[in-house]
Amino acid sequence: MYERADRIGGLLTYGIPTMKLDKKVVQRRVDLMAEEGVDFVTNTEIGKDITATELKEQFDAVVLCGGATKAREVDIEGRDLQGVHLAMDYLNGTIKSYLDSNLEDGNYISAKDKHVIVIGGGDTGTDCVATALRHGCKSITQFGTHAKAPLERDRVNNPWPQFPNVYTLDYAQEEAKALYGEDPRAFSVLTKKFVGENGVLKELHTVQIERTVDETGRKIYKEIPGTEKVWPADLVFIAVGFEGPENTLINQLGLDQDRRSNVKAAYGKYTTNVDKVFAAGDMRRGQSLVVWAINEGREAAREVDKYLMGSSQLP
Ligand SMILES: Cc1cc2nc3c(=O)[nH]c(=O)nc-3n(C[C@H](O)[C@H](O)[C@H](O)COP(=O)(O)OP(=O)(O)OC[C@H]3O[C@@H](n4cnc5c(N)ncnc54)[C@H](O)[C@@H]3O)c2cc1C
Repeated sequence: MYERADRIGGLLTYGIPTMKLDKKVVQRRVDLMAEEGVDFVTNTEIGKDITATELKEQFDAVVLCGGATKAREVDIEGRDLQGVHLAMDYLNGTIKSYLDSNLEDGNYISAKDKHVIVIGGGDTGTDCVATALRHGCKSITQFGTHAKAPLERDRVNNPWPQFPNVYTLDYAQEEAKALYGEDPRAFSVLTKKFVGENGVLKELHTVQIERTVDETGRKIYKEIPGTEKVWPADLVFIAVGFEGPENTLINQLGLDQDRRSNVKAAYGKYTTNVDKVFAAGDMRRGQSLVVWAINEGREAAREVDKYLMGSSQLP
């Protein structure tokens, strides 16, 4: 197994923060697999250190599990100011420094005594909130473009057995509320620009928005006049989602992609359009969940076994 990072584990190691997933649990599994005979090769990027063609020549089957780590960017004035970062750079810097030196090397973006704003109301943004709290930030706010959910489910538009769209607090928001007395989220907020001084971020300008539909029925966001606001900010973390897998390897191998740019391979089969190349996990289904990565990894192993041996006893 080749991994370009210095540690094995993918987003379970560099991505999911340590307080949510103890890295000892990940390492225990990696050690078990090493004992079973898996060779782990770190600091090796396929497509760069070893080309895709070399990989195909050297191995009888190749399973691509490179994740869907291409971060979505924002096109906002002032994005290049010092202090505006992608969420994953923030999270991974902290995890690496923690694992390397218990944060003593200082090789991470510190939120200590800083006014922090997280743009993005999803799970990655929430992990940034929890990390900033642990750094000892001065204030924390999490922006979302979505409206605040109702306290009770809408029985007409969101009936059982649909997942209930109701107001809840995730772990980071609960922690922030315990510390500062309120939910750190600001709902229906659109960032208009980042403003700085001498190239360093100083504040954020926002406006409230409401979601409506245009004449064709398409959902659109409308800015509400008079709701402009300026927020002091030393650090901003952008957590607005992921755009799919990176392209280098996909292009080198000439792989077909689906309409969301993931590697095209049927669930349960995992074969791509290129002989002996399989794809599984986030790289095939887009940014998802650990349970799916485990499920797809195990099933892909079975399909590779069948491909190599003609049959398989793997579940
Ligand atoms: C911040 C964050 C928090 C999350 N929290 C949760 C959670 O709480 N619960 C949950 O279920 N899911 C969570 N997820 C999602 C979950 O981590 C992923 O769905 C899962 O890790 C996908 O596994 P994977 O093996 O398919 O890909 P990944 O975990 O993304 O692993 C892909 C690996 O491939 C490596 N790689 C990529 N390209 C190359 C290359 N060319 N050469 C060599 N190596 C390469 C990458 O470095 C990476 O290590 C979270 C995701 C993020 C970003």
